[in-house]
Amino acid sequence: MTEPECLFCRIVAGEIPAIIVRETSNTLAFRDIAPKAPTHVLVIPKEHYADVATLAMDDPALAGEVLATVADVAAAEGILGDGFRVIFNTGALVGQTVFHAHAHLLGGVAMDGELTG
Ligand code: 5GP
Ligand code: ZN
Repeated sequence: MTEPECLFCRIVAGEIPAIIVRETSNTLAFRDIAPKAPTHVLVIPKEHYADVATLAMDDPALAGEVLATVADVAAAEGILGDGFRVIFNTGALVGQTVFHAHAHLLGGVAMDGELTG
């Protein structure tokens, strides 16, 4: 299912350009337009789910595919060994702005363990 007004569904459809770094049959990975780290890639299921909770409950296998793509991109970016951070903002309260489930893959720089902000 796709949502015609959804920004990330439109990237999947090729209607909005993005720098795509990996594509599988069910997932897409592309660079964040406003990177917060040297590597900042968004990994999404091609199918529309509003957030990772909905995705995980409705299709846990697809949620696993998203994480597998995160790992593949981390390897391709050369940050698998040094380490990286994966964030799923879930809900407006914690800063989700695009309501199509997406993992932020962040790496390439040292980070402290502070997770709130
Ligand atoms: P959220 O705040 O929902 O967790 O993350 C949404 C992310 O999407 C933000 O980091 C933002 O920079 C990114 N973003 C917003 N619009 C676009 C766009 O048109 N293209 C790309 N590649 N990233 C976008
Ligand atoms: Zn969507």
